[in-house]
Amino acid sequence: MTISDEIVAVSSGARFYRADLHIHSYPASHDVKDAGMTPDAIVAQAIAEGLGLIAITDHNDISNVSNALTAAENTTLCVIPGVELSTSDGHLLVYFSQYSELEAYFGKLDIDRFCAYGESCPHRYTA
Ligand SMILES: [Zn+2]
Repeated sequence: MTISDEIVAVSSGARFYRADLHIHSYPASHDVKDAGMTPDAIVAQAIAEGLGLIAITDHNDISNVSNALTAAENTTLCVIPGVELSTSDGHLLVYFSQYSELEAYFGKLDIDRFCAYGESCPHRYTA
């Protein structure tokens, strides 16, 4: 039974999982300079650290999400498809239960509309 199945099966009470739902990866996030932060390496490290759930939420980019999902197949780790959108009001983390939903949503976005500042956005991280 996967963690997703376990979460859905719990009808009452709470269950706690170790999770990191805000991870940036290389090269999908402009602020990640460490070439070792690949989806495969992130999944391997998450499993080694005993996490149950993770989400790769790169800035306005979903290109590494499917690789993380593939890397986590047949493991105990649940990868939640997500993205971090830059908006004029700050950053917005968005999650979906299925990659196809994330892909469809992301495909409808005009990313430039989300940040009037473009590349000089003051909300961008500088490492
Ligand atoms: Zn972020």
